[in-house]
Amino acid sequence: MSNRSTPLTDTLHQYLLDVSLREPDVLKRLREETAQLPEHNMQIAPEQGQFMQLLVKMLNAREVVEIGTFTGYSALAMALALPADGHLLACDYNEEWIAMAQPYWEEAGVADRIETRVAPAADTLAKLIEQGRNGTFDFAFIDADKTSYDIYYERCLELVRPGGVVAVDNTLWHGRVADDRDPSEDTLALRAFNRKLHGDERVDLSLVPIGDGVTLARKR
Ligand code: CA
Repeated sequence: MSNRSTPLTDTLHQYLLDVSLREPDVLKRLREETAQLPEHNMQIAPEQGQFMQLLVKMLNAREVVEIGTFTGYSALAMALALPADGHLLACDYNEEWIAMAQPYWEEAGVADRIETRVAPAADTLAKLIEQGRNGTFDFAFIDADKTSYDIYYERCLELVRPGGVVAVDNTLWHGRVADDRDPSEDTLALRAFNRKLHGDERVDLSLVPIGDGVTLARKR
């Protein structure tokens, strides 16, 4: 069927990687070290990192905010796509994860583009708004606790400029959003969030089936 996204079998997924993935060695090594952690499934897929690099470049982004940095793969991917005077604010509550990211950011020569905030991200975003940073970010990436997605989204939408993009990770939630038998709190939150964005007239919208689903919301 030509009018639906082609399902990715393992073979086709490998083909996609073989013919399109350009993953620098430093990113690959960070991904491999992260794979040893029990929380390794929180890391984005490498093809998604490359997709986000392309978005950062297409937006000519200089100011990026990330909610949920984990061990820094997505932050590193995006920082590599920023101009030398670009700036990425990486928010996470876990200092150990940030500490694991730091040497890779330094090795890649982009540590000076990345500022970290180890604090609850909702507070960090509220502070940025208080400081008058509304409309000054080009790109926001939300990939943190699902039950807070709505508050992260609302604050990020204030912080990005018109034409800027808020990207939201895990919106397909491994299929659980479409499984009525799954009543877990995270699934309910993502379902409600997806429904809300569908009708949100403040943004242009696409749910891209890459990785675990990335919703792109472009501020009008
Ligand atoms: Ca994620």
